[in-house]
Amino acid sequence: MTNTVIIGAGPYGLSVAAHLRQKGIPFRIFGRPMDSWTSHMPKGMLLKSDGFASNISDPTSDYTLGQFCAEKGISYRDAGIPVSRETFASYGLAFKDRKVPELEDKAVTAVEPDLDGFMVGLDTGETFRARQVILAIGVTHFGYVPEALASLPADFVSHSAEHSDVTRLRGRKVVILGAGSSALDLAGLMHEAGAIDRTKATEVPQQERQAASVVGSAASATLGSGARMEVILFRKLSQHILLPAGKPADRGRS
Ligand SMILES: Cc1cc2nc3c(=O)[nH]c(=O)nc-3n(C[C@H](O)[C@H](O)[C@H](O)COP(=O)(O)OP(=O)(O)OC[C@H]3O[C@@H](n4cnc5c(N)ncnc54)[C@H](O)[C@@H]3O)c2cc1C
Repeated sequence: MTNTVIIGAGPYGLSVAAHLRQKGIPFRIFGRPMDSWTSHMPKGMLLKSDGFASNISDPTSDYTLGQFCAEKGISYRDAGIPVSRETFASYGLAFKDRKVPELEDKAVTAVEPDLDGFMVGLDTGETFRARQVILAIGVTHFGYVPEALASLPADFVSHSAEHSDVTRLRGRKVVILGAGSSALDLAGLMHEAGAIDRTKATEVPQQERQAASVVGSAASATLGSGARMEVILFRKLSQHILLPAGKPADRGRS
């Protein structure tokens, strides 16, 4: 029986593996390394965490992001130089090579309780028993699309995790729903890529108006003073749908 299985090869899965390895605890780890970062976050994105807060933990702390950047000749400071998605993803892959060479690039398709452990199934068809399972599966596979939009064709509605390359939206009119970090990042990157036409501020309740104002200011800062950008917030998602290119933006608005 395998002692420990780690599912997921993002920063946390890799980190747990490095710690188990150092303690001599047998394990198997599965997943495509740094896949959330390479395939589900937009190219050109900058991390929100400073360099010093973006290290992948390992027991000897001898492979920090700063050390990786020094090796590769990438500009780095503990704070003050934003870390790019590309740098962080490359760091994770290098961490994997150095600290977790036993990683198996396979997906876990089943975990079932089984006597004193679990039965684990892989996409290769292999099944085996494990004493314990560590889930380090991140959030990528839990993207939420509101019910009112979920039935629209995939060509018209998508989750931010599906946009690793915003240039494919070039020439389309895009409405971004949301006022968080991913929404602002995507708005800025789409604008740079020539993909965004405009976003509109519309009638919203007080609480959402405040959010709109925050988004508007942050978006202006992102886009630069010359950029034309307004923000759309929806009072009720059920009354609105995302638009195809060239169609009215507010079909169904009350
Ligand atoms: C847009 C965005 C920006 C972010 N910016 C920052 C930032 O600046 N700084 C910061 O510290 N954090 C940031 N985060 C949070 C970031 O996701 C976490 O810090 C970090 O990636 C979490 O690591 P993780 O290993 O838990 O998850 P992930 O990096 O998501 O890794 C989980 C992995 O498990 C894999 N997996 C899932 N199911 C299976 C399965 N059945 N079999 C095999 N593999 C599987 C997934 O494919 C994925 O590769 C950001 C997140 C997002 C979405």
